[in-house]
Amino acid sequence: MENTIEKKLDALLGLQAIDCELDEIVQARGVLPDEVLDLKNELISLQTRSQAIQEEITHTEQELASHRVNIKDLEATVEKYEEQQMEVRNNREYDAITKEIDLQKLEIQLTEKKVKSTHERIASQKTALEQCKVSIDNQQQALADKQKALQVLVGESKGEEQRLHEQRREVTQCIDAQLLASYERIRKNVRNKLAVVVVKRDSCGGCFNQVPPQKQADIKEKKNIIVCEHCGRILADVFVPLEEA
Ligand SMILES: [Zn+2]
Repeated sequence: MENTIEKKLDALLGLQAIDCELDEIVQARGVLPDEVLDLKNELISLQTRSQAIQEEITHTEQELASHRVNIKDLEATVEKYEEQQMEVRNNREYDAITKEIDLQKLEIQLTEKKVKSTHERIASQKTALEQCKVSIDNQQQALADKQKALQVLVGESKGEEQRLHEQRREVTQCIDAQLLASYERIRKNVRNKLAVVVVKRDSCGGCFNQVPPQKQADIKEKKNIIVCEHCGRILADVFVPLEEA
């Protein structure tokens, strides 16, 4: 049997009510889902930073090792010159070698300074790494807490949510794809997320603008899908107060 417009409008009103309940469930979770996402992103950037510092430390340690090799080489050269100095034949040769030894010793002093500053750099990099690890621990704890709180909230509404989703599947079977797409589009665009409203006291239940009597008569007939000319919401019915009915 084909769904009449009236059936479709009823289904839309039902769908709207279900979606409102689902929205409330999501709203009850508040900012928790966003906070969880933020914490996850922060953790990723902290872990990237920690990895970068670790790589810097490895690099600086390699630098330190190469300075130490340099010092050993320079010391060996000095030793070699000192041996040569024992075997010189004149003062001129002796002075020339002394000059070389002084140069090498100066180079050793410079390299030792580099060793010292490289040590200091490693120390500060390690401090930064420690701080980063503490931040990671704290963020991980905060994330675990928030995730737990969110799980509790999700768990509490899980049954209700499933029931609503089942109802939603059922009711949407009475609504064709095109109309359903319009419904979703209107819902996304309006502030109170109500895509389907009824006329109350001659006004659109969404934007409260006046609905002309002829239009109200058309809405009551339920032969066409009629939208509010001001806000674009679907006008599903005209509400008649009990005393007037
Ligand atoms: Zn309206």
